[in-house]
Amino acid sequence: LRGAGPRGANSFGLGSATQVYAVASGKGGVGKSTITANLAVALVRQGKRVGILDADVWGYSIPHLFGVRRAPVALKGLMLPVEAFGVALMSVGFFVRDDEPVVWRGPMLHKAIEQFLDDVYWGELDVLLIDLPPGTGDVTLSLLELVPDAALIVVTTPQPAAQTVAQRVGRMARDSRMPVAGVVENMSAMICSSCHESTPLFGAGGGQRLAEAIAAPLLGQVPLDIELREAGDAGVPAMIAAPQAASVTQIRQIATSL
Ligand code: ADP
Repeated sequence: LRGAGPRGANSFGLGSATQVYAVASGKGGVGKSTITANLAVALVRQGKRVGILDADVWGYSIPHLFGVRRAPVALKGLMLPVEAFGVALMSVGFFVRDDEPVVWRGPMLHKAIEQFLDDVYWGELDVLLIDLPPGTGDVTLSLLELVPDAALIVVTTPQPAAQTVAQRVGRMARDSRMPVAGVVENMSAMICSSCHESTPLFGAGGGQRLAEAIAAPLLGQVPLDIELREAGDAGVPAMIAAPQAASVTQIRQIATSL
């Protein structure tokens, strides 16, 4: 199998050709998965081979954002990612029913992440985006251990409360010598669809403050945009459903800067 490496089917270890980004946030609901999904499609549009490992074990939403209902198939002991809109996807959500609680503890989570890296036939990816659970929990720690050369992207809203908790994630990365690719401020301002006036619904400056606090670049500011939300709910990434939307333009620019 192509892409085979010392860790099993794949090798994302140091020296691997795949650039791994772990997308984190301090708390849930800030748009981490929405940004991950659309960044992935933007990177595909640049001609890159892209995968998403949805490691948000409790709040997984990648299958829904890509409108995927089918489970991955296994081939010779390896799971094949499900492909949607050109992105190779693997998610806990493929293996549990929507109404089923996920009650895994640390060691099980570690094993699951390890299997998603080793027992999935990712092929030769240029970029793997890992959608982390919010906060600084077990999954993030496992990931730091399993993919030591991953770079962190921290998503926050401009609100001080979101920015402060996101700062902990940034600090954890620094303490573990994980490189930080940068900060994405999401839900930056609301742009009126009729008069185009910009209103800072969740305040302003949180992304910049976070970037300064963790000494990382501010990669971009993505406005609150009904088209981004509607596309996500409909299971088609806005990068495809609403390519002209203001939020999508911003996400495309962030993908270019990665
Ligand atoms: P997280 O992964 O951080 O929990 P999600 O990506 O699931 O957050 O986003 C939470 C909700 O906010 C979703 O309904 C999503 O469509 C919506 N959302 C995310 N970003 C934006 C945005 N920039 N504008 C409008 N709605 C957004």
